[in-house]
Amino acid sequence: MLETTVAGSLPKPSWLAEPEKLWAAWRVQGEELEQAKRDATLIWIKEQEDAGIDIVSGGEQFRIHFVHGFLEHCNGIDWEKKTRMGIRDDRYVVDVPTVTGPVGRKYSIHSAEVRFARPHAPNKLKFTLPGPMTICDTIADEHYGSRPEMAMAFAELLNEEAKELEALGVDTIQFDEPAFNAFMQDTVEWGADALNRAAKGLKCTTAVHICYGYGIKENIDWKKTLGSEWRQYEEIFPALNRSKIDQVSLECANSKVPLELIGLLKDKDVLVGAIDVATSEVESPEQVAATLRAAMEFVDPERTYPCTNCGLAPLPRGVSVGKLKALGAGAKLVRKELKKSRKSKSGKKHKKEKAKKGKK
Ligand SMILES: [Zn+2]
Repeated sequence: MLETTVAGSLPKPSWLAEPEKLWAAWRVQGEELEQAKRDATLIWIKEQEDAGIDIVSGGEQFRIHFVHGFLEHCNGIDWEKKTRMGIRDDRYVVDVPTVTGPVGRKYSIHSAEVRFARPHAPNKLKFTLPGPMTICDTIADEHYGSRPEMAMAFAELLNEEAKELEALGVDTIQFDEPAFNAFMQDTVEWGADALNRAAKGLKCTTAVHICYGYGIKENIDWKKTLGSEWRQYEEIFPALNRSKIDQVSLECANSKVPLELIGLLKDKDVLVGAIDVATSEVESPEQVAATLRAAMEFVDPERTYPCTNCGLAPLPRGVSVGKLKALGAGAKLVRKELKKSRKSKSGKKHKKEKAKKGKK
């Protein structure tokens, strides 16, 4: 009960890449880089285990960015042809590569990572892939002419990849779809279908992560424009509840999401974000517990998975370790309370039954 997990990314150690930065360049090259990525993965598996995280991630130490880390191994993309594009509904402007032909995987993209991480992770292992809609919002298109069509093409590639990772022993495959919160109507019209296509036939646990972005300035500024209540989830949760995905990962800590919206996910497991990624202040276990208790007004303990709001990648390494520990400790507090209250409830029931029998 209350198995803990993380959204996915964790900071890169300063000897691997420039710290506290998204899209940070590698600090070493060649075979030394490959070894450094593996070393960093080991550190994070151990840190998560020590913090009491039940479903661990490799921390995305093998990729510079969660979307381009997949795309750079695909055919049909021209990396020289950069297009300046407003992404996540113009929240930030980036130079993105351009799709110029049918997309395909050049090879199995993440198998080597999973082969390395799996035997080192005694607990359950999660692997994150970008969702098809978010990919389409992070690349320019000169070939498909339609986002839904391009999303389906990427969904097929993601599905091939996910099936290979599942066969290597990954317990959970998570698709990251922050774009769902920016294009709610598109999510309902075709984004959820593309997500289903990406997860088609998977027997492992499947998840979708929908957040309000990393704790960087552009996202913090955007959140200020969203008003006193963030109701984006309200538009997309009914479609996600109908989807084949098992788990939905969302942002709850310090967010203005009305928690009753969780009630729209009545058939899904809910990854409750109880760690804020937009501040370096480390939560206390009690704060984490309070977020979990508030969310659990709308979801049973059996379907609740304490998690982080988003990836911790841009945060200082020490802060991230502190936040992981707070998450593990906060979940432990609530687990203890639940056990106690269940015990006392079953005790009372027992007493009542005894009294009944006595009357007879
Ligand atoms: Zn996120």
